[in-house]
Amino acid sequence: MADKVIPLADIRYASSVPHVPARLQAPVGLLSDTRARPLRDLRISVTDRCNFRCSYCMPREVFDKDYAFLPQSSLLSFEEITRLAKIFVAHGVEKIRLTGGEPLLRKHLEVLIEMLARLQTPAGKPLDITLTTNASLLAKKAQSLKDAGLQRVTVSLDGLDDATFRRMNDVDFPVAEVLKGIEAARRVGLAPLKVNMVVKRGTNDAEIIPMAKHFRNSGVVLRFIEYMDVGVTNGWRMDEVLPSAQVIERIQAEFPLAAIDPNYTGETAERWRYVDGGGEIGVISSVTQAFCSDCNRARLSTEGKLFLCLFASQGHDLRALLRNNYSDAQIAAAVAHIWQARTDRYSELRAAQPADTDSSTPPGHKRVEMSYIGG
Ligand code: SAM
Ligand code: SF4
Ligand code: SF4
Repeated sequence: MADKVIPLADIRYASSVPHVPARLQAPVGLLSDTRARPLRDLRISVTDRCNFRCSYCMPREVFDKDYAFLPQSSLLSFEEITRLAKIFVAHGVEKIRLTGGEPLLRKHLEVLIEMLARLQTPAGKPLDITLTTNASLLAKKAQSLKDAGLQRVTVSLDGLDDATFRRMNDVDFPVAEVLKGIEAARRVGLAPLKVNMVVKRGTNDAEIIPMAKHFRNSGVVLRFIEYMDVGVTNGWRMDEVLPSAQVIERIQAEFPLAAIDPNYTGETAERWRYVDGGGEIGVISSVTQAFCSDCNRARLSTEGKLFLCLFASQGHDLRALLRNNYSDAQIAAAVAHIWQARTDRYSELRAAQPADTDSSTPPGHKRVEMSYIGG
């Protein structure tokens, strides 16, 4: 018999098979990590592939035709994802975000959404299910996603100037198609609609005001994200980060803003409203203002590794448990054990370092890429 071949993509990042405690305790939705942070938000990556090559995420020099993406056999099936999601929900997860790569590239994603939409919190409430997309396929899929039970979407759009946007997605994709996707999502009632713009100083910061003008009075919540040092391939430099405080200053100079309270503890975006009633915007300041103290997010990769931080270099291989006949109770106990030991607070530690120090990762470990683990 031929030796079993382990795909390169499966071993790209360090991972370990989780410890399964001998004593099984039923989940009661009250997990808490070493810093008293609960588990509330699960981000599930459904593919590591994408049809864009945004330079800050999947630079084409690295993600080229020779790049080893995960093979089909490595991916969690929809049944496996749903089984894990159910366990996470029992542990207190209330919100699930589907991401990627580009999640709308995963075939029959609507079937997964239908399966997830049937889950309920221990208190009998429906889950908050959302999806982050580059919207290239949204005009075509908005209705079927809505029909499957998706409640809302977040669209990534880095500018309205067509030439700038085509350069940033690096596959010459036109802005007009993304705007059609946003329109379709609005038409079918995928609301509230959010639009995320990653701001890179010198690349698209001239788009801040046009984007603010475009989405004012539209009901869409526009959020500006600081360009992050996630992964190792994007050549991140601090001087390309435009601090959110400056984004707010620029918008304030045109349209007065007032700060508003967060919707809930652990919300990543700081919220602002236009004083004239033109709606709401947000800023996500992952670089200049660490929000680790409230971070209640776990991330599940496409092939079933659990990561406790966006900047993690080590995953926990839940697929190994799924495919080796462990029971739900055993997997739930393993997840509890992992979360209870969680210490991650990468952004806080980076903020405590001198500005010119490179953020460090243990030798031999490689930080995960955003396209692998999702936003
Ligand atoms: N392909 C989908 C999309 O672009 O919406 C979902 C996956 S993408 C990895 C999720 C989010 O991460 C997007 O909003 C993207 O802009 C953001 N992102 C990727 N790399 C980033 C970086 N280096 N800094 C900040 N945000 C980043
Ligand atoms: Fe693809 Fe999203 Fe990454 Fe852009 S940000 S390359 S659309 S995964
Ligand atoms: Fe959460 Fe890690 Fe980001 Fe801190 S750096 S907010 S722990 S994902």
